[in-house]
Amino acid sequence: MPSLGAGLARLTAGRDWHTVSVGDWDLVLRGGRVIDPESGLDAVRDVAIARDRIAAVGTGLAAGPAEVDVSGQVVTAGFIDLHSHVTDLGRLRLQALDGVTTALELEAGVTPVAEAYCRAAAQGRPVNYGFAASWAMARMAAVAGPPPDASLGAFMARISDPAWQRAAEPGQVMALLSSLEADLADGALGIGVLLGYAPAASPAEYLQVAGLAAEAGVPTFTHARDLIEMTPGAAIDGAEEIVRAAGQTGAHMHYCHVNSTSQRHIERVLALVSRAQAAGSRVTTEAYPYGSGMTGIGAAFLAPERLGERSLAPSSLTYAPTGERIASEARLRELRRADPGGRAGLADGWRAG
Ligand SMILES: [Zn+2]
Repeated sequence: MPSLGAGLARLTAGRDWHTVSVGDWDLVLRGGRVIDPESGLDAVRDVAIARDRIAAVGTGLAAGPAEVDVSGQVVTAGFIDLHSHVTDLGRLRLQALDGVTTALELEAGVTPVAEAYCRAAAQGRPVNYGFAASWAMARMAAVAGPPPDASLGAFMARISDPAWQRAAEPGQVMALLSSLEADLADGALGIGVLLGYAPAASPAEYLQVAGLAAEAGVPTFTHARDLIEMTPGAAIDGAEEIVRAAGQTGAHMHYCHVNSTSQRHIERVLALVSRAQAAGSRVTTEAYPYGSGMTGIGAAFLAPERLGERSLAPSSLTYAPTGERIASEARLRELRRADPGGRAGLADGWRAG
């Protein structure tokens, strides 16, 4: 799908006009609501396409050999999904139907990334793809032995294993940093850091990861450590840690799903992010637009003894594979043991991600 944003930019700049004469196009999308975030255009227009490029945007454009009546529909640039964990073709096709043309696995990332790129290419994905290097997978390999393959599924199957969550020795941190460095050389788009899933990782280790990103000139994507209001004994507040890393290292720190990890403390966290941005730090955020979410039932923060931090009970969770509402602490422990990567969802007011 041609990029509408790029097409309009070319038209605005007056370039490429001479390459297409009026009416010399292959396809006209007729009468759609054209939204172009780059130029601010939001109006009913025709869009003419020639040789896979947007040739003209206007009203009453001359007919082309092919016409599609798109009245009542939105015509816009392909969406780039910055937070996608989708790997199977069926769901990727559903994303395409939603207008997504690029789906990026940035928060969890994948390691080794070269393997992930080969696999995605062999799949023949219907949308563009890209991966960050995975701090969590690199850490699992360095601290507890590698997962069986470079996939999120393999990682999730061991997500509850305390062996990978423990504090790392300096040599192990060096090993995981060089793994991330190798991934960046192999085309990783940044470094994904599932920090909240290994809360015993030290703040110093996180700063080293951010330092590596700054040196490499790539962004990081963090699932934050818990906020100090939830875990008063934590080594550092999860939000402070992200903005501190941006300030100290100069790295671009992207704060994943800030609403789900901040919960009722969102105003405090957003004010902190705004102050950091005003001071020149490169911190960006994203938020779920929907009211539910899920993660592996074996996640550290879903341990029965930690549910209270989020005002949850076992019955707040639904085990997605069966739709079962979890009846008791004992059942939660059983499922965490038997299927740590199995998805647990919560529909109202709280999201994991
Ligand atoms: Zn997350």
